Amino acid sequence: MNNASNEKIGNKQQTVAVIGAGIIGINCALELQSLGYQVTLVDKGDIGQGCSKGNAGHFATEQVFPLAESSLLWKMPKLLLDPLGPVSLSAKHFIKAIPWFMQFFNNMRPSLRDKNTVAIKALNKNAISHYTALLKEANIEHLITLQGSLLVFETTDRSKVDAMYQHYKNEGVAVKLLGRAETIKLEPSLNDNINYSLFFTDVAHTIDPLALSVALADFAKSKGMTFQQGEVSRIAQSDTGITVMTDKEVLAFNHCVVACGAWSKGLLKGLNYHLPIEAERGYSLSLPLPNNTNPTLSRPVASAERRFIITPMDNTLRLAGTVEYAGLNAPANYKRAEMLKDNAAFILKTLPEQETEQKSEQEAWMGCRPSLPDSLPVICQAPNHDKVFFALGHQHLGLTQGAVTGKLIGQLVSKQATEVDVSAFCISRFN
Ligand SMILES: Cc1cc2nc3c(=O)[nH]c(=O)nc-3n(C[C@H](O)[C@H](O)[C@H](O)COP(=O)(O)OP(=O)(O)OC[C@H]3O[C@@H](n4cnc5c(N)ncnc54)[C@H](O)[C@@H]3O)c2cc1C
Repeated sequence: MNNASNEKIGNKQQTVAVIGAGIIGINCALELQSLGYQVTLVDKGDIGQGCSKGNAGHFATEQVFPLAESSLLWKMPKLLLDPLGPVSLSAKHFIKAIPWFMQFFNNMRPSLRDKNTVAIKALNKNAISHYTALLKEANIEHLITLQGSLLVFETTDRSKVDAMYQHYKNEGVAVKLLGRAETIKLEPSLNDNINYSLFFTDVAHTIDPLALSVALADFAKSKGMTFQQGEVSRIAQSDTGITVMTDKEVLAFNHCVVACGAWSKGLLKGLNYHLPIEAERGYSLSLPLPNNTNPTLSRPVASAERRFIITPMDNTLRLAGTVEYAGLNAPANYKRAEMLKDNAAFILKTLPEQETEQKSEQEAWMGCRPSLPDSLPVICQAPNHDKVFFALGHQHLGLTQGAVTGKLIGQLVSKQATEVDVSAFCISRFN
């Protein structure tokens, strides 16, 4: 019997609670269950209903650059003051957000930016291959499409597009620079005002992020994982193990993984860890496609100037993007979702609703991206609690980095060497 099988049999005595059934928690639960642990996935709501539900579905491994970049500094005041611009900060949330922004600005320093780029690249490197292997094993390969994605430019100078192209190439991203004719040939429904595009050839998208979460959770259940609803208010570690207090009961486990996305701060505070997390709220608008028509696009198309993305999904075109700093609990401002449609009218020759009467069925959604000021997630064993692990703070890349995060958490819990150096992702950087 080999070591891996021995490990599995040993793990069967061990129980793990994974708190948070978003794409991150689901991937952690699936990996741990596959390693032979007895896993309970706990969520205050249903599976996949948080930020993982209405996102753009883009496995965006080309996004290797941290969000904190110095060119944003002079654009920031204008961006933030426009309530319907691509980035907004609510007046009510302004004071609360200052410490996060101070750290965000600090991360614009070239030395930190370079360090963070290296860390993001390491996570993104095998992010898609982990998913393709997982989806094959679960027999749900139809949920991933490997057609690349486009970043299109309407007004940006050629010299700036060239510089951006070179910037990606220097980081080893697979990218082609296309002119107007080549871009339209690839995606004939794009408008003629698109002058250039960057074609990221090695990226992918899913036709339904929620279906993906549910299918992966079902696969974990088929291996023995259980799902339990309950809002966790506290986690405590003792010599004998972990106690998880929910609004319904007190549960006992050998280990626990916290994967509560933007809601993770309170649980970590209870364990004495500081987590400078912001809910970077984003919106999507799903436009139903007329019956029996194919999606207008074959791959996600992002607009460089308008800062949003259009993804062809199952029976819909999903427009997604925008950043709103307004805190976790402020009501959604669905005008921000509606404005995505105005932007899409510049990118596409026609919108689906111009061909159909299905306008009332369009679905607006808001989700809270769990964002840390250095654009890196927290993936680690808690420094002062050896039975507690953290998998949270994946900002704009939670879908992309879900499967690789699950792998890393599996390796950390089972005390194997991690396939990526996880030192950059430790919570100790904030404590
Ligand atoms: C508009 C938009 C577009 C996006 N597009 C992309 C994209 O194309 N590609 C990409 O990679 N990423 C994208 N993202 C980011 C991505 O959606 C997130 O990074 C990801 O969903 C985060 O997953 P998560 O599991 O950490 O959090 P969530 O999905 O939010 O899950 C956290 C879960 O924890 C549960 N929970 C919280 N507190 C408790 C508690 N106390 N007790 C029990 N349960 C609790 C919640 O109910 C929730 O189910 C996008 C985000 C937005 C908003």
